[in-house]
Amino acid sequence: MLIFRQLFDQESSTYTYILADADTREAVIIDAVFEQIRRDRALLEELGLKLVQVLDTHCHADHVTGAWLLNHHTGAKIGVSGTAGVEGADDYLVHGDHVKFGRRYLEVRETPGHTSGCLTYVLDDETMAFTGDTLMIRGCGRTDFQQGNPRAMYRSIHAQIFSLPEHTTLHPAHDYRGNTMTSVAEEKQFNPRLGGQISEQDFVGYMNNLGLAHPKQIDIALPANLCCGRPKADELATAEATWAPLKLTFAGVWEIDPQWLEEHRNGIQVLDVRESDEFDGPLGHIPNAVHIPLGALAERADEIDSGLPVVAVCRSGARSAQATVLLKRAGFSDLANLSGGMLRWRDRGCPVIGGVS
Ligand code: FE
Repeated sequence: MLIFRQLFDQESSTYTYILADADTREAVIIDAVFEQIRRDRALLEELGLKLVQVLDTHCHADHVTGAWLLNHHTGAKIGVSGTAGVEGADDYLVHGDHVKFGRRYLEVRETPGHTSGCLTYVLDDETMAFTGDTLMIRGCGRTDFQQGNPRAMYRSIHAQIFSLPEHTTLHPAHDYRGNTMTSVAEEKQFNPRLGGQISEQDFVGYMNNLGLAHPKQIDIALPANLCCGRPKADELATAEATWAPLKLTFAGVWEIDPQWLEEHRNGIQVLDVRESDEFDGPLGHIPNAVHIPLGALAERADEIDSGLPVVAVCRSGARSAQATVLLKRAGFSDLANLSGGMLRWRDRGCPVIGGVS
């Protein structure tokens, strides 16, 4: 029997997949996200799975891969495309390779187009395929950077994905509209870029005129992914925080979710580092927050109780990230940044004092 899980990263709308052989408990993970490794490891542990292989469908531009971090924690081998130009992997995969987990395997199919090193992984019995950013649900990945090529993409999709059985379910690396999966038959019929009678020429014309903005994470994600997501400060990335379910960003900042903070307010010191007019301004502030503007933090750090964990907050989460760095230097240890700042706190409907609703 096959164990299958689909996981989602809200920040980058990335789907991560875990597949495992239920008998041997060996597992593979596809397209892991750096900031979600704690979650992924917890799930693997709860399900009693042994991760043997970490796979990426391609060198992502919108998030940092969790490959290196998972390899560090579990020893699982990293597999990437042999043509993606990535350093530090264990296996450089080529068309036709089989990636084994227990008695099951994924077949590697090269599907260039979105990037020149894109892979699609097809399950041994052809019931499922993991298409990365090549074929998405009623869409496809962009072809306007990272050696993208619309002609190559059209041919990859027709030769390697649409040639699978009609009932094969397709699982992409992203979805931005809440869809979770599709099938070969569905995409052949309904994909607005590739379905029905759409020719290669039609597709190329469409793709060359998308006019998309550059992805916001690309300057961080691309260089990081070219070495499997290995951060410069290894020892920082592999440290563990035990006082709360923190996420470590690739930049090395520990973050906490608003929901968790709201439910665990007792025993946590909230530190608001905005200016006074913001603290009393339209966004309001978190009940019982200690207020010290970032510029005064170094000299007023002794006003903070060093016996309690500190969660720093600002408007969007940028200045408060800096506050955690300053406090760490001042000797504080249990620190976190409130992810998304007051904006996300209010978005999630968490309680505020003052402000306008
Ligand atoms: Fe991509």
